[in-house]
Amino acid sequence: MSTAQSATQGYFGQFGGSFVPEELQNVLAILDENFQKYKNDEAFNKELHYYFEEYVGRKSPLYFAENLTSRLGGAKIYLKREDLNHTGSHKINNVLGQILLAKRMGAKRVIAETGAGQHGVATATACAMFGMDCTIYMGLEDTKRQALNVFRMELLGAKVIAVAEGQGRLKDAVDAAFADLVTNYENTFYLLGSAVGPHPFPQMVKHFQQIISQESREQILEKEGKLPTAVIACIGGGSNAIGSFANYIEDKEVRLIGVEPEQAASLNEGVPAELHGFRCHVLLDADGNPKPTYSIAAGLDYPGCGPEHSFLQESGRAEYVTISNDEVLEAFQLLSKEEGIIPALESAHAVAYALKFAPTLNPDESIIINISGRGDKDVEQVFAMLK
Ligand SMILES: *Cc1c(COP(=O)(O)O)cnc(C)c1O
Repeated sequence: MSTAQSATQGYFGQFGGSFVPEELQNVLAILDENFQKYKNDEAFNKELHYYFEEYVGRKSPLYFAENLTSRLGGAKIYLKREDLNHTGSHKINNVLGQILLAKRMGAKRVIAETGAGQHGVATATACAMFGMDCTIYMGLEDTKRQALNVFRMELLGAKVIAVAEGQGRLKDAVDAAFADLVTNYENTFYLLGSAVGPHPFPQMVKHFQQIISQESREQILEKEGKLPTAVIACIGGGSNAIGSFANYIEDKEVRLIGVEPEQAASLNEGVPAELHGFRCHVLLDADGNPKPTYSIAAGLDYPGCGPEHSFLQESGRAEYVTISNDEVLEAFQLLSKEEGIIPALESAHAVAYALKFAPTLNPDESIIINISGRGDKDVEQVFAMLK
């Protein structure tokens, strides 16, 4: 997206902002106005929490992984079970928040980007329930890798557009969705799936995902009588991580740890740059273009990251680490065998780091791993990799 104008608001230190053409800037300003108005609106929040409870099945448990804890020795391990949400991941939290906002704004048509198909399925699900017209942009390569998710979205009544440009991956789907929004903003709401993009998206997605740490904070205080030593979450765009961290950011004694795949480690190996209309750490090639990424977890395949994570890293408040594919596959199997919980490959990154980290702590400490999604979608892929 070209730099035509930059907003003064929506910054996290030097990161974030809104670098988009003027006509899109105006659309985003209206979106921001409505978000600011409704985020503290009593009727809006009542409706959102009604769907969180009755449709998603919140609150999600904070489960003590007793077997894993005794196997590893060290800190008590708690799992925040976002995998138990309807549609199988944390993505539905943000989708419901944004679709209620879309409804308030009078939108008739919802568009979204999707990588692995998880956000597309969550969006198509909510559009089905609310009777909204739904168009999902998905990279052509991804539609081939995730053919079943394409069918799921179509089953839910959505139109899936395969994007052949570029690598035919998530980044290209985002570009196509923004192009659609610029043309059709009068009746269309772009329901972005992660804590990325120009202002106000990172702030808005965090707001709807903070329910994860709002709940986990209460739950851990009830179970342990004190805050955890660390909260660990995987980082794609960074929405499940920022939602898991949000209510602990002021508690300086709680370590916040984001886990990236070695093959898509924008916070560990990227440089500050502009991507999709905002500033964050980006993996660039020699020509200064976003680098192709190849994570075994399709949901983590993004060359950038949420701007607030870039800021939390620079300010030293959060730590970001990487994990190899072999470690992820081991964690995927270990959590399945020890606890009877098959995690998404994305979430298995957070589990993998915890396997190394928990034994370094004392038994009177606790850590929370955010299980962002369930692994049913990945079982076939892991089967092919392991045999
Ligand atoms: C999409 C997805 C992710 C990555 O997205 P974030 O915005 O970084 O949370 C992680 N886990 C699961 C299960 C996902 O579906």
